[in-house]
Amino acid sequence: MERLVDLHIHTTASDGTLSPEQAVAMARDLGLAAIAITDHDTVAGVPEALAAGARLGPEVIPGAELSTDYLGRDVHILGLFIDPDGAGLADALAWSRDRRRARNEKIVAAMAADGFSISMEALQAAYPGAVLGRPHIAGWLVRQGLAADTADAFGRYLNKGCAYYLPRERISLDRAAEAIRSAGGIAVIAHPLQYGYDQPALERFLQRGKDAGCRAMEVWYSGYGPAQRELLLSLADRYGLAPSGGSDFHGDRKPSVRMGSGIDGTLRVPYAVLDGLRAACR
Ligand code: AMP
Ligand code: FE
Ligand code: FE
Ligand code: ZN
Repeated sequence: MERLVDLHIHTTASDGTLSPEQAVAMARDLGLAAIAITDHDTVAGVPEALAAGARLGPEVIPGAELSTDYLGRDVHILGLFIDPDGAGLADALAWSRDRRRARNEKIVAAMAADGFSISMEALQAAYPGAVLGRPHIAGWLVRQGLAADTADAFGRYLNKGCAYYLPRERISLDRAAEAIRSAGGIAVIAHPLQYGYDQPALERFLQRGKDAGCRAMEVWYSGYGPAQRELLLSLADRYGLAPSGGSDFHGDRKPSVRMGSGIDGTLRVPYAVLDGLRAACR
């Protein structure tokens, strides 16, 4: 049986719905050889995942996902093989969480002013230990019966253009890549086809990511079919970026995305991809 990996997974440390240990247990049940824990702006789930991996079998790669600014767009960069205690990275993550908190507070205050029953305290109590973001506000709205599900809550209230959308200050692409490198990790351009670029703009972006210090890019991602993977693989080769891949599993928060297999079951990331990233990281 081919050994497969999933290098993009969220847990309850950010906006996933499985705890780190539950995520590792699911990986074991699925027969995955390795998973990377890549929570938004935090490595808080990594120690629990590493301990569970040692006990249950799947190799656990410490990671994180940073939301960065590239020409005004929200571009995501994954760090893989990072030292969770790396000081430079810890600073960058803390800065990002701080900006996130400031934005959450403004969104929640605006909703409360309009009569919604919501507060930062209630939100944090509902999601203990989580780095909060719009997904949790969405979850709260669902619990209150004000939205059918997460996607509905985003569509009604939280997406750009909606009443309670607010921008968030984001770390620069360069600073994110440098923080990841300083923690011994490899910076990976996440889901390159999610930013709405046509091919020339995509290629400029990849070159810019490479210049910023990214050494890899996601080629396998939930929803990307064979033609898209082929395109991304050829671009990875052209720009000297190691291919990476993962589902962006969020548990029940994105119920269509399955760990290890994506949305349509065709996301199959061979273990050799992990070896390639390891080599590129040195
Ligand atoms: P934030 O980091 O607070 O800006 O929230 C963005 C995060 O919300 C993304 O990383 C996704 O995980 C999640 N998200 C965005 N849109 C949706 C949606 N329609 N349904 C579920 N999750 C979403
Ligand atoms: Fe997320
Ligand atoms: Fe992302
Ligand atoms: Zn993600």
